[in-house]
Amino acid sequence: MSTLKPMPLATKISKPYWQALEQNQLKIQQCNDCDSWVFYPRNHCTACFAHELEWKEVSGEATLYSYTLTRIPTMPEFSDEMPQALAVVELKEGVRVNTTLIDIEEQDIQIGMPLKPIFDKVTADGKTLLRFTAVNNQGGERKFDNPLEGLPVNDKGQVQVPVSNLSALYALADNKFTEWSNSIEVDQTLINAFADLSGDDYWLHTDPERAKVESPFKTTIAHGSLVQVLQSRLTIALPFEIVGFNTMVNYGSNRLRFPAPVPAGSIIHGRSKVKDVSTSHKGVQLTLEMNIHVQGNDKPSVINDLVILYR
Ligand SMILES: [Zn+2]
Repeated sequence: MSTLKPMPLATKISKPYWQALEQNQLKIQQCNDCDSWVFYPRNHCTACFAHELEWKEVSGEATLYSYTLTRIPTMPEFSDEMPQALAVVELKEGVRVNTTLIDIEEQDIQIGMPLKPIFDKVTADGKTLLRFTAVNNQGGERKFDNPLEGLPVNDKGQVQVPVSNLSALYALADNKFTEWSNSIEVDQTLINAFADLSGDDYWLHTDPERAKVESPFKTTIAHGSLVQVLQSRLTIALPFEIVGFNTMVNYGSNRLRFPAPVPAGSIIHGRSKVKDVSTSHKGVQLTLEMNIHVQGNDKPSVINDLVILYR
């Protein structure tokens, strides 16, 4: 995925429709009993209720039945598409399709105008949405336009994303973890120093002799909050740099969990991924999921959804 926008989920009934779009074909159902065309995808004919529906490729020739221009995003994720021409389009076969018009100037949109389909690739892996445009425009496939492509790269090899470029910011939330960071050892000396600093000197952290006998881990373990703050010693190679903001604020955490213990003497390392990007009157909010693991352990010891606010 390379978009935060909600994507259609194919069901058993609608799957042939979405699969056809990925092949740059428009397929809708026709009834074998009464020849009626049916859209949206269903189990039965809407004219005669027969179940004999067959998927057939159609040309996509259409006319504009109705439309509206949205100037306030219907969802925050669509902020980069304003204004959006939400339309109901009538196919030559008579069925109507909810869609969006693209590449037509506002003043050129006319009810009844002839339209043709565009198979719009909206993710890198070929997810396709059906849109329509004027007949004198080029129709057919519209290739995926990676908003990160063509942006400058800094001397660390990070792509520089302006905080004002919403499409590029959304594209960062691709659900991929970075490479692992450097590793550091969490030894008893470090744990003791944190116990002194925080005042949390519970024996499970500070008394190796007692822990050997009484702890389920047979050794002392680091404080969860110690491991959490050690992220500052882990160098994570983020593939991007946000630029063009006035202030950057650590806004706290949306989620902080300590799913697995860090026994004294463990080597830890971390990695992160962009989990979410959102905008509000406060600015642009980037949620970075930071995971710290004991080396070799699949289960993270810390999951921290850090929220960074740019304005
Ligand atoms: Zn029928």
